[in-house]
Amino acid sequence: MKLFLKTTMLLAVFAVSGLLAAQSPQKVKGEDSRFKADILVVVAHPDDEAFFTPYLARAINDLHKRVAVVFSTHGGSGVNRYTRERGPAMANEREIEAREACAKLGIRNVWFLDGKDTASQNLLDSLANWGHGANLERLVGLIRLTRPEVIFTHFPGVFIGENHGDHQATGVLVIEAFDLAANPLVFPSQLAGDMSHYESYLSNLQTWQAKKIYFGSDADDNKQFDGSGPAYSVREFSPSQKKPYWRLALDSAMAHRTQFPDDIERISKLSDAELEKLMSDPNSAWWSEPSTLIFGKSLVGGKPTDDVFANIEQKAQPASLKAGAYCAYAAANESAAGRLPRIELGGPWRFYADFYPAHGLCDLPVAKVPEIGVKTGMTLVIPIVILHDPSRTLSISLTVKVPEGWKVTDGAGQVLLPAEESTSLPVHVETPTLSSEDLKKAVAQEVVVHAEAEGKPVGEVKLRVLLRGSALPQ
Ligand SMILES: [Zn+2]
Repeated sequence: MKLFLKTTMLLAVFAVSGLLAAQSPQKVKGEDSRFKADILVVVAHPDDEAFFTPYLARAINDLHKRVAVVFSTHGGSGVNRYTRERGPAMANEREIEAREACAKLGIRNVWFLDGKDTASQNLLDSLANWGHGANLERLVGLIRLTRPEVIFTHFPGVFIGENHGDHQATGVLVIEAFDLAANPLVFPSQLAGDMSHYESYLSNLQTWQAKKIYFGSDADDNKQFDGSGPAYSVREFSPSQKKPYWRLALDSAMAHRTQFPDDIERISKLSDAELEKLMSDPNSAWWSEPSTLIFGKSLVGGKPTDDVFANIEQKAQPASLKAGAYCAYAAANESAAGRLPRIELGGPWRFYADFYPAHGLCDLPVAKVPEIGVKTGMTLVIPIVILHDPSRTLSISLTVKVPEGWKVTDGAGQVLLPAEESTSLPVHVETPTLSSEDLKKAVAQEVVVHAEAEGKPVGEVKLRVLLRGSALPQ
């Protein structure tokens, strides 16, 4: 009897707990909505967010979009124009300035990768200095955390202008991460949940495919990008803030005291009318009117000039399925590939020739003739690659045509190449030291490297070079 009562009571308890479970199932924790972004901005240095701030002011205040920012370096190289700290100490200051600049626009989700600010025009140098793999892993993790629809970053390409290697390297890292974050085989520990309490470095994230990429460029001639993406007025008034978008962007930029304290000082004393005049004049305005976002790629279709958020609710088509993922550029490369020996520009140019088609970047504006700006009086290096039959050695003759007053110091003449697929041969050219008056009139000039093998022409490469008063080292 006692046993029967006990069993009945137990059954009753089970029945009640089963009933409770049906009424309120245990809630499984989902993703953290505080970190979801519509736009993820990934830029190289504190102050580079300003490439996009007029549009971000529009997106945040009037389109009600969520924005997060990732800086790939802390900006520790260069000059502190404000106080005496430099190097790592200045980098710490610039991190705070960058957070302040973002906070003024209402952006609080801000992260930094571990890239070392590298003063050069060579993206490969930046990637080497940063630790490419570790930073790519971190960026993929941040894309999986922030789940952006659209990513803004730097244009990965070589142009006359600031042409910063860190900018280009950031663009490259973003394109790689855009394509990898949706792949469950890439950095799988980010996707794994813990099976025991001690596996504290598994992230329990999910794969993510962003849908579009847009670029900002530091080229001198931004007119060349007109029509290559959607353009937005920076002078338009924000309906919610009752200020033009440039003004909201300018207020944000005032945080960067270690970078341009004199401008900040001068601007902070100007009246609204004086500011308006300064920012309306194309010669002194900080942002061009309108400001173009250069289209990178879209996995939801549409035209390059369509609005940033056009088609964004559509499901992303994997890049490999997208028509035209193989660019005309790649096709031309492939048809040339059978022809040996041949000469190509090496370094960043050769990297991009492989990189663009591999990532389906078929519509990027490229310089008609490869170009670069270098400091007057410095040695220009032209990285040459000869592709040839790997089964035998090859005798090659290089002749270099330079503008008057320029001098070839290394790399021209007869060379015997080892039996290998490709041989790199840097050509060095000493450039003249121009006066500041001459620099004002300077235009880009062509350097041509011509190759012959066993008496027959192999081809030539051209590089347009502009001498400037200052430029980052190549
Ligand atoms: Zn920068």
